[in-house]
Amino acid sequence: MKRPGIILKIGKEASLMRRHPWVFSGAIQAIEGDVAEGDLVDVSDHMKRFMGTGHYQPGSIAVRMLSFKREQIGDSFWKEKLENALALRSELGLAGSNHTSMYRLVHGEGDGLPGLIVDMYGKTAVIQAHTAGMMRSADEIVRALREIMGKGLKAVYNKSLQTLPGRMRKGHRDGYLYGEKEEGPFLESGLSFLADWEHGQKTGFYIDQRENRKLLEKLAAGRKVLNLFGYSGSFSVYALRGGAHIVHTVDSSRSAIDLTRENLRMNSEFPGQHEAFVADAMDFLKNTPHTYDLIVLDPPAYAKHGEAIRNALQGYRRLNQAALGKLKSGGILFTFSCSQVVSREQFRRSVFVAAATTGRHARILYQTAQPPDHPVSLYHPEGEYLKGLVLKVD
Ligand code: SAH
Repeated sequence: MKRPGIILKIGKEASLMRRHPWVFSGAIQAIEGDVAEGDLVDVSDHMKRFMGTGHYQPGSIAVRMLSFKREQIGDSFWKEKLENALALRSELGLAGSNHTSMYRLVHGEGDGLPGLIVDMYGKTAVIQAHTAGMMRSADEIVRALREIMGKGLKAVYNKSLQTLPGRMRKGHRDGYLYGEKEEGPFLESGLSFLADWEHGQKTGFYIDQRENRKLLEKLAAGRKVLNLFGYSGSFSVYALRGGAHIVHTVDSSRSAIDLTRENLRMNSEFPGQHEAFVADAMDFLKNTPHTYDLIVLDPPAYAKHGEAIRNALQGYRRLNQAALGKLKSGGILFTFSCSQVVSREQFRRSVFVAAATTGRHARILYQTAQPPDHPVSLYHPEGEYLKGLVLKVD
């Protein structure tokens, strides 16, 4: 069957030729044939020269490209993409590891599959569709996952309610597409954690902070640590393994703090003390009598779209300023932004202003990012979202 066609305006083929995987609605000259949300479409330049195939989605990003050559988008396509994704995670020492059983198998554009996230928890794959096209491809994705992972896969859970475009959410229910619930715990760097993809945030765990947690572990010995926006308490567990004396975890969500307490119980062999607080991070900083040797700031995305950037930068400045007020001289600050629309430079600038306002001298020890199982295509810099600074503050 012939796919509907998207004809680009003159000159709008350049970014696709560089393999940037998005076609913006403003770049479209004409649509040939009937096209519905989630359909596969063939994209051509203004001379009708074929450029590739993608998923159509009404909105500012109208097409997300899956392929830049003529091919069927069928079982063998999905199998090849997922095989490549799995091969990379094996190369990285994640797939097949006996000390880490949680990793990201597919990171959207970074794996040539715009709109699709697949996270592995033991033998369960949690998939998250951000587009109608990916949602409609779910059966093929499950088939391909089963084929490439064999006995390594026992269940596939679809967690797309929060990420699907608005219209698609109606009538959608999250649930198992294959197999059934697998109980944790799951491993990260030899530590045990619970991950609840059915009720928890994201796909169940903030897998993207793994490398930063390892870094924190290395710097935690003998320190009194404050982990703000703690969620599962994962940074806290690493801090204790790293030899922290005292660790305080704060999150405004009671269920996050319950999860933190369970994770701490499961990793109770480390001698440091831990205490957890349900509180707003700013209120906690304002009211606590404590000062700390190491503070982690990992807030939720302050800006979800471009217009919100100014407020987000203000928010980062205020938060970092308040945290610096509780950091002892010689202390270390781990500060993060996961807002995709806030650039590394903008974030660094807001931390700079925070430090300058307090008059503290701060040096950058590390500039960190998302880990390699969240790869960023060089042609799609928009895929980079997690930015971190580790500062030594006098
Ligand atoms: N550091 C965590 C992930 C943090 S996600 C990890 O590595 O697992 C952000 C967390 O901030 C969420 O758990 C959310 O419940 C919490 N949160 C959101 N707003 C908050 C606020 N104002 N004060 C404290 N916690 C907040």
